[in-house]
Amino acid sequence: MTKLRLNLIAGLIALGILAISAHTLRNDYLDTWQEAENSSRNLLTAIARDLGSDLDLLDLSLKGVIEGLRYIGFQRLPPDLQHRVLFDRVATASLMGSLVVVNEAGELIADAGPVIAPRSFNLADNESFVVHKANSYIGLYVSRPFKDPLRNGELSLGLSRRLSYSDGRFAGVVMGFLPLHTVNQLFNDLRLGKHGTINLFRGDGILLTRHPFDTSQINQNLGTSLQVQRLLHAPNGTLDSVSPIDQVRRIISFQRLDDQPLVLTVALSVDEFLAAWRVKAIVMSLMTGILCFAVVGLTVLFQRELKRRTKAETKLRRLARTDDLTGLLNRRGFREIFEREWRQAIRSGSSISLLYIDADYFKSFNDRYGHGKGDDVLRTIAHMLNANIQRPRDVSARHGGEEFAIVLPETDASGARMVAENIRQAIMALGIAHEGSPYHIVTVSIGVASARPPRGSMAAILFEAADTALYKAKAAGRNNVCGFETVTSG
Ligand code: GH3
Ligand code: MG
Ligand code: MG
Repeated sequence: MTKLRLNLIAGLIALGILAISAHTLRNDYLDTWQEAENSSRNLLTAIARDLGSDLDLLDLSLKGVIEGLRYIGFQRLPPDLQHRVLFDRVATASLMGSLVVVNEAGELIADAGPVIAPRSFNLADNESFVVHKANSYIGLYVSRPFKDPLRNGELSLGLSRRLSYSDGRFAGVVMGFLPLHTVNQLFNDLRLGKHGTINLFRGDGILLTRHPFDTSQINQNLGTSLQVQRLLHAPNGTLDSVSPIDQVRRIISFQRLDDQPLVLTVALSVDEFLAAWRVKAIVMSLMTGILCFAVVGLTVLFQRELKRRTKAETKLRRLARTDDLTGLLNRRGFREIFEREWRQAIRSGSSISLLYIDADYFKSFNDRYGHGKGDDVLRTIAHMLNANIQRPRDVSARHGGEEFAIVLPETDASGARMVAENIRQAIMALGIAHEGSPYHIVTVSIGVASARPPRGSMAAILFEAADTALYKAKAAGRNNVCGFETVTSG
């Protein structure tokens, strides 16, 4: 019972420790996750703002050119003034590479920017030109990345607007070249970790650029992937997904840029932002394991110690009731058992007998043969007593120096006398020499007392009776059995 309770308490403590650390780890995990989500969103918001305002400025430049061309007196202005009217506002766009104006045949009319376009420059085959020629209401058009002929084929985006005659006919295109590396400069100083990425998609799923810069992915149409479709069709949000490209699990924040058919994403590697948490989880799991192990170990040790003590106590208790010399019960142990049998006899109304066995002339035996020999005889007598009692509840004991006692439950006077007589004769039959005795051998005198104890009677009366009987046996010449029957209940 105690053992069970102890196990239960230890189990509960271990469970409690487990529950606390699991709870803490889970909360930490959720916090870390939330932090990662927040920081990716914050990054995204900042980049989107920068990129958005740069693109707005660029668009303003395009609009400025269109306005200039519409100016009634434009054609009559000298070429240097024409240039200023068209491109005065271009300098404000920090991302801008070159800016060109072409007519309806794709031929260069005017250009601005760090690189001067050659006269042979023609845009008729360009994606943006083709799109604007076919559609009059596109507004700002962002092209797929293409190799800019003005910059040694450097990958660039084209941002363009349509030029129309007053009757609406296609008159050409004004287009700004946006080198991808200048776009990517916006991303370079951001802390995204080793596996963090930034992607800029066009609304139809074309990947315009990405950080880290990777030409094998750029210009691919990723709009077929389910994951990309999800982020193209919501204004903003966060996804948790495994990349089909590098199998890295990332948390992806995405946002559509204001006014433009562009979607920007910032993705952080789950492994990276969970790394610190993982270390903590391992340390905490180890510590929790050790703690639980310690609790269980302590419980086992405690139980073992408890068991050892119980065993030792039992042994001590047994020793306290055992006689060293003969191994029989001692006086104290015998009294306890006798009292119990006495009460049992009262309850069941049965007889109970008590034998006092005393070695005759034993003082002179010791004097003649020595104390050691005397001890041997006492052991032999003890052995003979046990040899002559048969029932499981019959108990023999060493009651004093050379004096023994036997309790015979459920045994009346005549049965007890028989046992006593058997013992006396068995000891005589051993024929142990004893020159100090008139019998010349070791003999015993036995007092027998029997009773059928009435309710309320004391065990002590049988001890007195057995004592009296033994006294009689001695007085009658020793080597003798004397009986004395006491009170018997009706
Ligand atoms: P009686 O026939 O009247 O019983 O004479 P007795 O000498 O046996 O009785 P008494 O009571 O005068 O002496 C008891 C003796 O028993 C004293 C002692 O030498 C001896 N004796 C008591 N305990 C031990 C013991 O543990 N070992 C040995 N060897 N002798 C013991
Ligand atoms: Mg004696
Ligand atoms: Mg004696």
